[in-house]
Amino acid sequence: MNFINLSPEVTALAEKATQRASQAFARIDANCEYNTQKMLESFMHNCVGESHLLGTSGYGYGDRGRDTLDAVFARIVGAEDALVRHSFVSGTATIISALFGVLRPNDTMVSLTGTPYDTIQAALGLREGGHGSLPEFGVTYREIPLLSDGGVDYDAIPAAVKDSSVKVAYIQRSRGYSLRPSFTVAEIERMSKLVKAANPKAIVIVDNCYGEFVERSEPTAHGADLMMGSLIKNPGGGIARTGGYIAGRADLIELCAHRITAPGVGREVGCSLDENKNMYMGLFHAPEVTASAVKTAVFAAAMMEQLGFEVSPGIDDMRSDIIQAVVLRKPELLEAFCKGIQSGAPIDSFVTPIADDMPGYDDKVIMAAGAFNMGASIELSADGPMRKPYAAFLQGGLTYFSGKLGVMMAAQVMLDSGFIKL
Ligand SMILES: *Cc1c(COP(=O)(O)O)cnc(C)c1O
Repeated sequence: MNFINLSPEVTALAEKATQRASQAFARIDANCEYNTQKMLESFMHNCVGESHLLGTSGYGYGDRGRDTLDAVFARIVGAEDALVRHSFVSGTATIISALFGVLRPNDTMVSLTGTPYDTIQAALGLREGGHGSLPEFGVTYREIPLLSDGGVDYDAIPAAVKDSSVKVAYIQRSRGYSLRPSFTVAEIERMSKLVKAANPKAIVIVDNCYGEFVERSEPTAHGADLMMGSLIKNPGGGIARTGGYIAGRADLIELCAHRITAPGVGREVGCSLDENKNMYMGLFHAPEVTASAVKTAVFAAAMMEQLGFEVSPGIDDMRSDIIQAVVLRKPELLEAFCKGIQSGAPIDSFVTPIADDMPGYDDKVIMAAGAFNMGASIELSADGPMRKPYAAFLQGGLTYFSGKLGVMMAAQVMLDSGFIKL
């Protein structure tokens, strides 16, 4: 079998990588089976029926599909309530909506996990161009830097959050464009407990992007008060066409509902157009699609390690997100890697990615993505800012075997380009 011109060397390397990944694959499959059962139970418990899949228009009053999807989602993630909406334009917009939902003038927000992801920074006043940022509305932002090994400075948490002005303690689960590890649900629980002990009124909010269904439970089942994510990542299962979710404590979800529509209107409005079926179906597929993405990541770690690159996380490391970092050290290798991933995509395989300016990012960013839903990073994609150490951040893979082929194509292009040798 060789329909796409992979060399015997790359095929042999892939064979070895698969063997090295076999124990990790068994663990991923076990989590997937567990989460799939939880998913099915929530659909059954909420009596999801054909009528819930139908669309509404206009104001969307009494949209049963929308309201039931909120309940299905909340139950799976161990939250009291949720807002799952196609109308969130991105993960960033979802996260910022939730922050504006709960923060008020003179409140303080403290990040426990260092500087948040690039696209969140303008809203916190950390970079230019954030019109209507939280500081403009009188919110103070502070952060606890990560330790030099990328871990959380647990000892610093009590003093940083104990002041009564601290309303929000913010945690970013996934690594973003950095080489720190993702934080596990157990670590998030430990952070939440420290916050609550020092300041029982503080709200623990988690940026859960890329984390959903990688483990067997979510932060909202372990002490987090709210969490947010994108539907073109894990919980959309590659089928939801756009959107995001906020899940957590019922009183806080109510505040967020009034923020995302209008004060006094709340969750009574918001038509689902024809997106309900895509969101239900995507959510149902999400455990399996997430498992495919995590397997693709582990395979990539095994493959690239054999080619002599530093990878993070390692093959057998505990994972709490779908991201695989590969440290390529040179700009031309980052370009070759992304070119290879692009050439292995089902859509736009004939396109060459080029680094360019992106809204929300300081450095030029190179992005390889050949996705059915534009920009969906639950589909196989690789990107990286053009800055040291020229790391590629790989994520996605709707199916494991297609993800594996994409990674093999990346290795092939790097070898063909002459930048590396076997
Ligand atoms: C993807 C992501 C976001 C949101 O990004 P969008 O591109 O706006 O969806 C936020 N935080 C982290 C850690 C992410 O990975």
